[in-house]
Amino acid sequence: MSRIYNPNKCKINRNYTISEISLLYGVHKNTPKGWLKKGLKRIDNQRPYLILGRDLRLFLKDLRTINKRPCELGEIYCMKCRAPRKPVPGSIIFETESSRYGRIKGSCNVCHSAMNRYFRIADLALLQRHFKVILPLQQKR
Ligand SMILES: [Zn+2]
Repeated sequence: MSRIYNPNKCKINRNYTISEISLLYGVHKNTPKGWLKKGLKRIDNQRPYLILGRDLRLFLKDLRTINKRPCELGEIYCMKCRAPRKPVPGSIIFETESSRYGRIKGSCNVCHSAMNRYFRIADLALLQRHFKVILPLQQKR
């Protein structure tokens, strides 16, 4: 799960498509698509999505940090602070993504940026206790 991707493999002055990233890193297209969900920035919403090499490099460096510094149970990794942060109390929403996975959304208690983190539905009760969430799990529309 925590494979290391060399951030310096991509060139900061180029744009990459999802296909180009998967070729460059020798991974399935779902891997860079998952990176977008984790916070990798894309230039805009036009398809095919284009990612700035500079953003990709920064994201892959962050990914190493995330893998090295796993969040505590009550924390979410903030892409802006580039550190695990506690969300603002009351900002937290638990949402289903599928029958097995969900997403916790909240705002960073330091920079107030939106943060999110995937979790297994099996861990829901445990995480809700650590995040002190009273709201029930919401169905994604
Ligand atoms: Zn933050």
